[in-house]
Amino acid sequence: MILDELLDMQLPAGCHMQAFADDVLLIVTADNNEELQSVSNTVLSEISNWGTKVKLNFGPAKTQVIAFTPKAKSVQLHMDGTDLAFVPEIKLLGIVIDEKLKFKRHLKYVLGKASRIYNKLCIYARPTWGTHPENSRTIYLHVIEPIITYAAGIWGQVAMQKSARKDLASLQRGFALKAIRAFRTVSTNAALALAQLIPLDLRILEVHQIEQTRLTNTTPFLPEDVTLERPTPARELLHPALRVGKPDLDHERTDDTQEIFTDGSKQDSGAVGLPLCLDPGGSQQPIITKKFKLHDSCTVFQAELFAILEACKWATQKYQNTVIYTDSQGNVGNEAADGAAKLATLLHKTPDYRSFPMSFVKHKLRMRSLDLWQARYTSSEQGQYTKSIFPTLTDIKHFRKHTDIHFHTTQILTNHGFHKTYLHRFHITPDDCCPCNTNTPQTVTHLLTDCPRFAAERMRHEALCVYHDIVPYSLPELLKKEEALASYTELASRIYSKLKAYNGT
Ligand SMILES: [Zn+2]
Repeated sequence: MILDELLDMQLPAGCHMQAFADDVLLIVTADNNEELQSVSNTVLSEISNWGTKVKLNFGPAKTQVIAFTPKAKSVQLHMDGTDLAFVPEIKLLGIVIDEKLKFKRHLKYVLGKASRIYNKLCIYARPTWGTHPENSRTIYLHVIEPIITYAAGIWGQVAMQKSARKDLASLQRGFALKAIRAFRTVSTNAALALAQLIPLDLRILEVHQIEQTRLTNTTPFLPEDVTLERPTPARELLHPALRVGKPDLDHERTDDTQEIFTDGSKQDSGAVGLPLCLDPGGSQQPIITKKFKLHDSCTVFQAELFAILEACKWATQKYQNTVIYTDSQGNVGNEAADGAAKLATLLHKTPDYRSFPMSFVKHKLRMRSLDLWQARYTSSEQGQYTKSIFPTLTDIKHFRKHTDIHFHTTQILTNHGFHKTYLHRFHITPDDCCPCNTNTPQTVTHLLTDCPRFAAERMRHEALCVYHDIVPYSLPELLKKEEALASYTELASRIYSKLKAYNGT
């Protein structure tokens, strides 16, 4: 509260001051160094004098200065008779701001923070025991991702650099492996896909764009004259004490009471239309219908609200007493309005309302991220085995919707597991042969479909698939029937839980 007075101080041109709690930030811009030096020193001394007056200490020891151009560094700044030296970076509201505004240091800082949490998680989440893998995923999504993406609107562009992408991937990889309980040799490409974690650099760019939209009110997805829908500032709202509750309609109604029905509608075409139906008491026939078109990006909620707004304007201009029935009331008049609204979505006219909702931008960004992720998943040399089972990320999404991913299923979906072709490849066993027959390599397919050792386990699954007319070992086929998929993962579990003993490893 005391500080508020400081923020009202008259500042010379090119100066900006802001504060968070007792942390004050002063930004000074100038055309040349002489001006920069004199303006900065004048304002610094004014702040310091004000501080002394109100017993708040802004001493030189507590003050940091940073220059954002090499030239500005030669400026001599002082406070209370002490020279201030420039620092290469400052931390402000949790962001490390460096003098080149590259934000590489910031990224390193948040990665370090996230890694420390990861190391703690490692104590509790082992491949075969400890916290449920879904918990690792939840911790990632709700703790790690927000830590990393915080304020990405300011610094997020750094995530486009190759080195940044690499660092982010290596952090994210750890969480993805935990979330699916995979072997540590599983590739990042396969791990992220199976864990269904959007690559972190793409998430940062999403947040960057969302925050940029908030800062600029526009989005590259739409023309600049379509701007972001904003909540009405509190100072423009009716004072809460002046807002009256719902009146008793039957008592208030008179013969000249006008009824207005409102509705909004949104069709697949993206257009939003809405009418106002005016119904004279009793006849139930709409006599006047107004139609308004909203921009294609608008939601049905915006359409409903816009209808109510227009109804209010109409009511205050034309009538003494009005009752407005909104869609939620379920009246005959609203049904008429609903029908007219659906027709109105086909109107070819310029929109009467053109503010896009944030949900529109978020949806567009998510679609773009998923496209980019799919392209990376496909073109990557990593994860060939997983890709042969699931060619698209959507396949994995469907798979995960119907079944839990765990230690055993992950082994058959990644080809990194306790079967001997893997153990031999990583020089853990001298050969890759299955104990059932010394000439057969023990692959995932051999274990699932051929190995006589697991014939009994296999029979139940195959019988079920025959019954449902499904190819028993093809995942796209199995995805068609939840029961068959469950039986397949159960089979995998039965085999893999006995595998170590069977192979004597
Ligand atoms: Zn075998």
